[in-house]
Amino acid sequence: MIDSKEGIKISIRDNLKVIEENINEALIKSGRESDTVEIIAVTKTVDIDRIKEAIDLGLNNIGENRVQELIKKYDILGKGPDYHMIGHLQSNKVKYIIDKVKLIHSLDRISLAKELNKRAKSLNIHANALIQVNVAEEETKFGLKIEEVIPFIENIVAKFENIRIKGLMTIAPFAENPEDVRWVFRSLRQLRDKIANEKYPNVDMDILSMGMTNDYKIAIEEGANMIRIGTGLFGKRNY
Ligand SMILES: *Cc1c(COP(=O)(O)O)cnc(C)c1O
Repeated sequence: MIDSKEGIKISIRDNLKVIEENINEALIKSGRESDTVEIIAVTKTVDIDRIKEAIDLGLNNIGENRVQELIKKYDILGKGPDYHMIGHLQSNKVKYIIDKVKLIHSLDRISLAKELNKRAKSLNIHANALIQVNVAEEETKFGLKIEEVIPFIENIVAKFENIRIKGLMTIAPFAENPEDVRWVFRSLRQLRDKIANEKYPNVDMDILSMGMTNDYKIAIEEGANMIRIGTGLFGKRNY
């Protein structure tokens, strides 16, 4: 990754090239040459001009973790890119984004599913969502435990017909050496395979959203087909 130490402008183009090479390498390494990996450009704290630059480079999937920031960017950039809600979503904020996002990566509780279903139904649309799984059971992170996921999905399938479950998402614990969290990605992929076998209505397990700047190569080796990259594209965030 190329970072801005002395105020040198970070080249999103150069960073993207490195990431694309790494993606290809990881796909080859894991025997998935014919697969593709979608990059979600995580644009939290990134200003509009830089986001436009990314979009011009073909990064058409924008990930935000806060409703307010997502709406702000949507108001300026409009319907062009596809928007992904990747952060914790409060039920009372669903109404602001339900018609704007392509995919919600953070479905993790029935109260949220209920609200998503209600709002989607009133607009006569479907809410597309990934189930967020807290594989490592970190107290600081949101998401269901592995053993909670199948009962949760069965509950949703039974009750909420305007929700489409598209796969699973996880955030691995930070690790200096990403090899240390390979098991997290592997566990999520195994869970995905298990659920896919059940063939629930309105549920497909097409998407495995896992891997961030620090660990996306390992995540891809374990089956990720959607990665969420912020720092690796735009440089360090200034909060
Ligand atoms: C910020 C964020 C990312 C991107 O993290 P980087 O390490 O900057 O690539 C990915 N996923 C979620 C849920 C995030 O909040």
